[in-house]
Amino acid sequence: MLTVFNVGQGDCFLLSPNSGCTFDDSPLLIDTGPSYKIPAQIPNELFVLLTHSHKDHIGGLPAILKKKKVKSLFIPYYLPEITRINYYLAKHTRISIANPNWASINKLNPTLVGEGDSLCPEHTTVLNPPKNPYQCFSNLFQDDSPAAILRALHILRDYGIDLPQDEIINYESPINTSEQTLEYRSIARIFVHLFFIKMSTYLQGVPRESINYYLERQIELTSNQSSVAFIYNHPQNNRWLFTGDIDETVFARLISSKVDISAKYLKVPHHGSRMNLSLQVLKSINPEVAIISHNNGRHGRSKDTHPHTEVIDMLDQEVECAPSGRQLEN
Ligand SMILES: [Zn+2]
Ligand SMILES: [Zn+2]
Repeated sequence: MLTVFNVGQGDCFLLSPNSGCTFDDSPLLIDTGPSYKIPAQIPNELFVLLTHSHKDHIGGLPAILKKKKVKSLFIPYYLPEITRINYYLAKHTRISIANPNWASINKLNPTLVGEGDSLCPEHTTVLNPPKNPYQCFSNLFQDDSPAAILRALHILRDYGIDLPQDEIINYESPINTSEQTLEYRSIARIFVHLFFIKMSTYLQGVPRESINYYLERQIELTSNQSSVAFIYNHPQNNRWLFTGDIDETVFARLISSKVDISAKYLKVPHHGSRMNLSLQVLKSINPEVAIISHNNGRHGRSKDTHPHTEVIDMLDQEVECAPSGRQLEN
């Protein structure tokens, strides 16, 4: 069974699959909604997956950590997102943001999940975010040798950005996940090296006064694009596709690498925003039921409400729609 909670603008789902799965007894909560006021039906013992760091998905986390027993916390295998989630936790546990205390997230012993991983031994396939750091950056450069890193740090210093050279070269991830530590540590180091190399490449020729504008744009994947997306493959052959807030670029990567994204049930990405789903993608998924969580509001600079009429029209043509707040049995 999947319970879709009406949390207004935000996502909060409870998967209790009854399929001979780890999540039968302790269900999987997929995102926590936007606020400290969490749905009353959330059980006392559960697994929690945070698809990404936006508040409409992780806002209820401090309440859940305080009131419930979390058996395991799954978070995206993507360094900027881990940092943002840690900042959010730190903010709510009164730890200074200027000096983030990684103990807050390490204490939770989170499991980092990315493409190819599984959330339970048999039924889930994680499709996003990509784990390979080279996939997180575009091909602006080919070389990430130590010499290239030093060159990058020199360029940045010329721009007035003075970085601790040794700390970056020998970057040690402050996150300590038990089994994954070794693999993740080397990947986090490559990620940090690529990050600064890309930053220096990107800044070349940029006027000094516009540095901030350019820096903000040089992280390759946005939070939405690094959302954990996964298929839950129920033994009665029902494929469920959970998408967080992923957008068309993520679907394009999955489709071009021939990943099977077909599913009977689709959690519509990003609350039905029009930038996140196209007819071609919908045809590849070919769902029978679509689920959108939303509160029909306008968000950010967007002029349109979530869900967007174009998305609703598209779903009306292609699938049968299930309004939020209804429980779906499988
Ligand atoms: Zn988001
Ligand atoms: Zn969202």
